[in-house]
Amino acid sequence: MSKPQYHVVSLSGGKDSTAMLIGMIERGMQIDCILFCDTMLEFPAMYDHLNKLERDIGRKITRVSCEQTFEYLMFDTPVKRKAGSEFLRKYGNYPTGYGWAGPRMRWCTTKLKDGPRARFLRPLQDKYDIIEYIGIAADEQYRLERKRNQRVNHVHPLVDWNMTEADCLQYCYERGYDWAGLYEQFKRVSCWCCPLQSLSELRQLYKHYPKLWEKLKDWDKRTWRKFRADYGVEELEVRFLFENEWQNQGKSIKGKEFYAELRKRLEVSADE
Ligand code: SF4
Repeated sequence: MSKPQYHVVSLSGGKDSTAMLIGMIERGMQIDCILFCDTMLEFPAMYDHLNKLERDIGRKITRVSCEQTFEYLMFDTPVKRKAGSEFLRKYGNYPTGYGWAGPRMRWCTTKLKDGPRARFLRPLQDKYDIIEYIGIAADEQYRLERKRNQRVNHVHPLVDWNMTEADCLQYCYERGYDWAGLYEQFKRVSCWCCPLQSLSELRQLYKHYPKLWEKLKDWDKRTWRKFRADYGVEELEVRFLFENEWQNQGKSIKGKEFYAELRKRLEVSADE
């Protein structure tokens, strides 16, 4: 006997999933649950946005999160390292914690998002056929091609409506959602501390969020894994300060000359 359907909107709070949610409400589509997986690492403006959205639509947003904090997992959790791994050769069984996420080790996505989501949905799956609505925009083909986004119970309304990322942002702006200017600073909005964000996004973080930047520096000092393959957080700060200096002299930060001088700056700061 087939189970009744249960319609879950997967809400990250960003422009695409917000546009999807509002679009579904405007079209009168069935929504049984609006699910937000909270990493506790969103920008304050994102939490304000979610509260405003919840008030405006008059529906509850179900917030789920991991029992352990990002900081505990990053610094303190005991991690079993693979026998014979490079990590064991380099560090031994210490230090604890996963350290910063890397392109091939996105532990925080698994622990802080996928885990809580799965734990929430599991008991519902016994009773219902879960249909999940995912906010992938029509011009995000590369995301659609990922295996995890091709599950049969996943629906992509933005693709069906042919709404691109730019369309989604405009649609949200027209309905009064502006995230206090977050999308004027960042192309993509995710965890403020994400080491996988682009250099230009990290530059914006440094420029506009000094308190978060200080926290980022502190976290970077406390973990074994380098923030990015090319820069630690303090090195990024050296770079951004130098960029300002260089640009104030009317010079470009793209040429060979800039990188040669930057290397010298980084060497000097490493010796201090
Ligand atoms: S956005 Fe970055 S920091 Fe946040 S969960 Fe994903 S990989 Fe981790």
